[in-house]
Amino acid sequence: MALDRLLKGFSDFRLGYYREHLDLFEKLATEGQSPKILIIGCADARVDPGILTQTRPGDIFTVRNIAAMVPPAQIPPDQAQHGTSAAIEYAVRGLDVEHVVILGHALCGGIAALVDGATSAAASYDYLSTWTAIARTVRDVAVHDLAGRPRDEIVRAVEQASAVNSVANLMTFPWIAERVAAGKLVLHAWWFNLVEGQLYAFNPDTAVFDAVTGLEVTPTVQRGTKLSAIKPERLLLTLANKQPAF
Ligand SMILES: [Zn+2]
Repeated sequence: MALDRLLKGFSDFRLGYYREHLDLFEKLATEGQSPKILIIGCADARVDPGILTQTRPGDIFTVRNIAAMVPPAQIPPDQAQHGTSAAIEYAVRGLDVEHVVILGHALCGGIAALVDGATSAAASYDYLSTWTAIARTVRDVAVHDLAGRPRDEIVRAVEQASAVNSVANLMTFPWIAERVAAGKLVLHAWWFNLVEGQLYAFNPDTAVFDAVTGLEVTPTVQRGTKLSAIKPERLLLTLANKQPAF
């Protein structure tokens, strides 16, 4: 049944979208891809970067993993199979993207599992908790700074702080830091609230996520941004000193 839906969808795509965009597909096939943006999103079925941004094939290079996380660079590189890092490397070094967007989201199961720790159903899985440990320090700081706040609020804070943490981790890759310093690459920490259909972006000046309302957005990291501005601890401290928003 579930597969029927997919095959019907592909049939519709082939007869509709594909035919209507034949020129685009021909161009992409003959000239190759040249996306200017890498989006690192969550594997969550509700948060599809292409649909959220209404982009066309060829517009965005996309990595989706558990909780939209980026691990720190492995220096020197080892023989482990770093899938997310390999995709980032190809987008940055191979395709010369101009923007990298970390797209976190509300109600993220991977972040909830990280917050719940040993009490999570995922605690006994083979790979999940090792992966989400990328943001374990962020979780620990959030639990400490937001002690006494409702679990949902802590999960939301970790969702946002983890996106900032992933941007900080991007800067540990030398070929990313070099391109940022040269003004060729800009990094963004975004958070999509699927409950209200609103996008937010981390503003390094105020250390909070601002609602994106128009066609302008403040980059999280661009040439000249101090690394101290993108410490996730700043966001958590700001959230801790504010009245709960919900
Ligand atoms: Zn998620």
